[in-house]
Amino acid sequence: MTNNYSESLDIDKIEKTDPITGLYSRYYFLYAVDLHIDYCTDLNKKFVIILININEFKDINDYLGIGVGDKMLIEFSKRLTDIKKDNNIISRINADEFSILCKSDDIIEIENLASEVLDIIRVPFLINNSVIHINGRVGISMYPYDGKDVETLMRSADIALCKAKEIHGRKICFFSREMYEETKDNFLYANYLTNSISNNELSIHYQPIFNLKDCTEIVGLEALLRWTNATLGNVPPAVFIPLAEKSGQIVSIGEWVLDRVCKQIKFWEMKGYQIIPISVNISVKQLEQIGFSSKVISILNNYNIDSNVIELEITESVSSGDITTIVDNLKDLKTFGMTISMDDFGTGFSSLGKLDFFELDKIKIDKFFIDDIVQVNKKQKLLESIVSLGNSLELTIVAEGIETRDQLSYLNTLDCQLGQGFLISKPLPPGEAEIFLK
Ligand code: C2E
Ligand code: MG
Ligand code: MG
Repeated sequence: MTNNYSESLDIDKIEKTDPITGLYSRYYFLYAVDLHIDYCTDLNKKFVIILININEFKDINDYLGIGVGDKMLIEFSKRLTDIKKDNNIISRINADEFSILCKSDDIIEIENLASEVLDIIRVPFLINNSVIHINGRVGISMYPYDGKDVETLMRSADIALCKAKEIHGRKICFFSREMYEETKDNFLYANYLTNSISNNELSIHYQPIFNLKDCTEIVGLEALLRWTNATLGNVPPAVFIPLAEKSGQIVSIGEWVLDRVCKQIKFWEMKGYQIIPISVNISVKQLEQIGFSSKVISILNNYNIDSNVIELEITESVSSGDITTIVDNLKDLKTFGMTISMDDFGTGFSSLGKLDFFELDKIKIDKFFIDDIVQVNKKQKLLESIVSLGNSLELTIVAEGIETRDQLSYLNTLDCQLGQGFLISKPLPPGEAEIFLK
């Protein structure tokens, strides 16, 4: 036997069926998979686990009541049973998760079954006179490639399911080794990140923002977070910020950044330097916190720092966040006197209609538009349109990622006011960035 899962269960004592749906219970399903593994090992056969998740099930329970939720599960179980092939085993494995042991290794047949599952989820449910529209996701693992025992096989299907949830538009996902490595890395990184503040692994670098017409005039600095871990080395923000956002750690890390920037400003003030505004990147996850604005205000007050010394950079992802809380927080911070910039403008979920909504002062045009601006005519047209849009809305425009003199000259033919990029300086540690304040 490849695994002792079934040996650890007393089959006479486990509940064979799920009391709500009448499908096989989780334990019986795992037991059946284990037995099937034995059978397939002996005969050198393959099979798959199809894991199904109903997307909005929690909402249904919360807003329509668990009675409606239960009826929906029962109805969905009937639909699953209707499309089931004779030799497949179906189970409700968790609250809103179902699984199928499909005794086939024909990819087309498996894909068809997975699509059929999604189709029957999408057929509206009529429950207590309410029509309910829902969606689902499917993750698939195959024996023996994605696991030789029950636990590994189920974990692989679960990783594939998570991937299907993550990738917009993708609803069926087959497990792959890369997915496992990525999940493992993400877990590892997120774990290390938990102690990054207490272990003093975080620091902030500062990059100058300059007047495009006169590059020697430095009008601000952007604070950019750095993470150096003893085991992982220097981890780029593009890697760890999304992980911190996913795990929720960005809330405490973001607070640390703001606190550290304020402390730095005080330090520079004490050294007699002329302080210029410093931009801090804010994650949508922070803005979604009720009371975020009060937190920011209290940190600034704590250090006795003027509200116009710190600018906040938000990204276009705010458009898809909890809009009420985000707008409330931004309104408070604007009233307090802070400047708000839209970072990486043009690359995210552009919602031009909402530009006004967020009471912006600045837009920062993403490096993507600047990169080959001198060579690519289409990019020039795009950039011109963005600059003209920004100006007509009376926003200050910052061009990011300027690396060459040619890019700078081109930008100076447009009505674009500020710039940032390696041409003038890379982000520098505080000791070196001081030069811009002198
Ligand atoms: P961002 O806010 O758009 O910051 C600008 C990024 O472009 C920085 O990357 C900067 O080093 C890089 N950059 C600036 N000029 C040039 C250039 O001329 N050439 C090239 N190749 N790159 C240039 P970095 O520091 O790696 O940060 C990446 C992103 O991570 C930031 O993009 C921001 O979205 C996020 N991030 C950094 N620090 C924080 C933070 O404290 N909080 C949050 N929420 N996000 C942060
Ligand atoms: Mg930024
Ligand atoms: Mg940017």
